[in-house]
Amino acid sequence: MSCGYENLPNTFAGCRLVTGLTFVGYFIPVRELVVGFFTFNTSFVVTFWVLFFSVITYANAGWMRSIVCIHMCPYARFQSAMFDKDTFIVGYDTKRGETRGPRGRKKDPKELGLGDCIDCNLCVQVCPTGIDIRDGLQYECINCGACVDACDETMDRMGYAKGLISYTTEHKLEGHKVDIMRPKLIGYGVVMVAWWGCSFYCFLRYNPWDWMLSGIAASCSKPTVTA
Ligand code: SF4
Ligand code: SF4
Repeated sequence: MSCGYENLPNTFAGCRLVTGLTFVGYFIPVRELVVGFFTFNTSFVVTFWVLFFSVITYANAGWMRSIVCIHMCPYARFQSAMFDKDTFIVGYDTKRGETRGPRGRKKDPKELGLGDCIDCNLCVQVCPTGIDIRDGLQYECINCGACVDACDETMDRMGYAKGLISYTTEHKLEGHKVDIMRPKLIGYGVVMVAWWGCSFYCFLRYNPWDWMLSGIAASCSKPTVTA
């Protein structure tokens, strides 16, 4: 079954040069860069970095895609340390779904000894990282919600209530109340407020607009597109 991701490489092939030029445009005047690049008047170093960022963008976003999420993204590794049982996740309601198994639409699953999962496998087919969320929380999950939509459609077709797979918490799935005032969350809140406070202090004290304007003035005074 196609989930629409097959066309992404072509889409990103069109965007990669724009990304490369934009990245390099942070460091040298972008108008001269674009004109110079397309008239072959940029230096070797500038041309190299434009092509480098273009190829990297294509490789990451257009070709490797979920490989980056599963094997390279550091966030997936440390986010599990930040999670607890009240963290908002995409989760499968095992109590309601099991025992899974196919059945006719008009059959009563209770009479057959089945739960609400009809084992259609749609949630696995639409998953961009290829996992089965029914096996529980996994670090590969990027919380895209594609399995939630796919399963809700199946539930609709079967005439069951939606939400067999949903945005939820582990505590909620176990039938407990979600605890909002928990030490981890308060700790993260304190760190965020301290971070914003420091940023605001620096913003007022060092006036970044002066830096930005002097940076633009300096870059505009450069006569040629070289690095
Ligand atoms: S989409 Fe829903 S019903 Fe189908 S296999 Fe997944 S959990 Fe079961
Ligand atoms: S939320 Fe997305 S990545 Fe996570 S299991 Fe569902 S489809 Fe896969």
